[in-house]
Amino acid sequence: MSKVYISLGSNLGDRQKNIEEAIKLISHQPLIKINKISPVYETEPVGFSEQGWFLNLAMELETTLLPQKLLAVLQEIEAKLSKKLERKWGPRTIDLDILLYADIILDLPDLQIPHKLMQTRAFVLIPLAQIAPNIKHPVLNKTIQELLRIKGFYEEVRKLKIMN
Ligand code: ADP
Ligand code: MG
Repeated sequence: MSKVYISLGSNLGDRQKNIEEAIKLISHQPLIKINKISPVYETEPVGFSEQGWFLNLAMELETTLLPQKLLAVLQEIEAKLSKKLERKWGPRTIDLDILLYADIILDLPDLQIPHKLMQTRAFVLIPLAQIAPNIKHPVLNKTIQELLRIKGFYEEVRKLKIMN
């Protein structure tokens, strides 16, 4: 079993329901166990900004699925929940990203672990710090809490609205 951290985001349709559906589908996967779920945060869109605010959260999983197989499972869930064509960095019914997979470092064309942009994104680090403050990023060799502090994201914590 490997410990894995993923992020969930939604800014299209009934965001709360999309998140709940995604969690339900993940919890039904026979080879995935959900250990922890962070609070849900409402966050401002990054990149293509003419779109609605996101709901974001992070989860700790345990799985025997190898990274590429886990990605395939998560993409299947994304496809199931996304009816419309969605553009990169645009509106999303659901976005599921693998942030950390044990202390594995992977740089494949379709899968980079740790997630390449996780250390730059408040909407990833803030929820993740709630469930894994002391987990170390294997490339940057810093804990999630340290990454948050370095980015000065504590300021943004107050702006984000916790939904539950
Ligand atoms: P983002 O999640 O950065 O907003 P997208 O979800 O649009 O971007 O990107 C999807 C692509 O990212 C997928 O085709 C997938 O192959 C690739 N990818 C690379 N690394 C990861 C990762 N760690 N988790 C999820 N997808 C990843
Ligand atoms: Mg993604």
